[in-house]
Amino acid sequence: MRYFPAFLDLAERTCLVVGGGAAAVRKVRLLRKAGAIVRVVAPRVDPELTTLAEQGELSLIRRGFVAGDVRGCAVVHAATGLAEVDGRVADAASRAGVPVNVVDRAEISSFIVPAIVDRDLVVVGISTGGAAPVLARRLRAQIETLLPARLGSLARFAETFRASVAALLPAPAARLRFWERFFDGPVAEDVLAGRGQAAGEKMLSLVNRAGGETPEGLVSIVGAGPGDPELLTLKALRALERADVVVYDKLVNPDILDYARRDAERIYVGKSRGHHMRTQAQINDLLVAHARLGKRVVRLKGGDPFVFGRGGEERTHLRRHGIQVELVPGITAATGCGAATGIPLTHRAHAAAVTFVTGQGRNGEPDVDWAALARSRHTLVVYMGVAAAGRIADRLIAHGLAADTPVAVIENGTLATQKTVIGHLGALADLIHDHVIAGPAVIVVGEVVTEAESGAIWAEAAASDARALAG
Ligand code: SAH
Repeated sequence: MRYFPAFLDLAERTCLVVGGGAAAVRKVRLLRKAGAIVRVVAPRVDPELTTLAEQGELSLIRRGFVAGDVRGCAVVHAATGLAEVDGRVADAASRAGVPVNVVDRAEISSFIVPAIVDRDLVVVGISTGGAAPVLARRLRAQIETLLPARLGSLARFAETFRASVAALLPAPAARLRFWERFFDGPVAEDVLAGRGQAAGEKMLSLVNRAGGETPEGLVSIVGAGPGDPELLTLKALRALERADVVVYDKLVNPDILDYARRDAERIYVGKSRGHHMRTQAQINDLLVAHARLGKRVVRLKGGDPFVFGRGGEERTHLRRHGIQVELVPGITAATGCGAATGIPLTHRAHAAAVTFVTGQGRNGEPDVDWAALARSRHTLVVYMGVAAAGRIADRLIAHGLAADTPVAVIENGTLATQKTVIGHLGALADLIHDHVIAGPAVIVVGEVVTEAESGAIWAEAAASDARALAG
């Protein structure tokens, strides 16, 4: 972040605009909206400024700028478009300790003015740090289309009831819940549709009812996807945005936690060095305890919660304790890694089926039907299979899969650190060892691997290059 965003209270404060052209008019309009007392200094001015002066909206001083003009001002805008004059204004203001903005000259300004979406009380400011004003304007146009026209009225409406809601619901979590439900609900819809009176009546009964309720907790079991935050679903994003508590695993990319509210509690329950590992029973209890306090809990899991994610167990536990549960799917590692490497999991030329299988089991090897997995025209995606890769390859080969079946190992799929190595089933263990696969990785076995796009390391090619170099 290059500039610190803030909103200034300029109501009844004197603000100076130096210049009388179109840029000055724009600044004057903005300052008037914010309730400032506007003073304009310029030898010649746009007729609009003359009219505003006649209406008592601003005071007009028709002469050149002198340094003393900045005295007592809350902010100064230099908008003459003349480099020398604007420079003097900036200089005088900075000497006097008055914040100054020079139109289109961030380098001599002490603050810059963002592109603005104005909905009365609700204002969105967009800045690119002066780097790309056109981008800022485009973003503004996009946000304009997203925000309902009566958003300001909605904010004012809520403000009217703020004190009474606070009195009825002293607990901050309950209050938060009330307002969240309000903004999602039919009363807010009425306000946005311009049905103010109906909204007012409904709101009274909503507020009166709220006092007696204990809020009901909700646990959303949410799939965070394989890593890239762009792969979150909209539903996951919304759940994160309204969560009071986020309980997350090791596989969840920390960048994704940034989508939660800043004041949301974040609880790490994954296994890693220096952290105490919680048992599944402890995690279950934690979820129940927070939900019982009426909180909105997001149980965030890597990939999809229902694919090797214990989402089913947690769901059952919560339901058994009478807690409301919601499930939000995520992109599982197999499909995420497939897209990220260009490997289709099924393909009319190569595979008519795909199986997701875990590489872990009781004796370090999964308890699966190897003969079924070794069928031809079948893609296997092995999760958690790095440690047992050699034995898995041996079993598949023993059950009839050719040793030269292509395999891909995709580590940290969809992240900037993604690594893909490709080789043959017979050499899978060496492939993993030689390329030092240490992060979470899936192993894809099958002809579909031949469809991989660039970015992958082909073990044979790499080995012959190494030989060529050595020779
Ligand atoms: N529920 C998760 C899987 C959890 S099991 C999902 O649906 O994806 C953990 C295993 O998932 C890891 O051992 C690895 O095999 C796989 N995995 C998770 N994220 C991955 C990623 N970004 N790249 C490669 N494999 C990943």
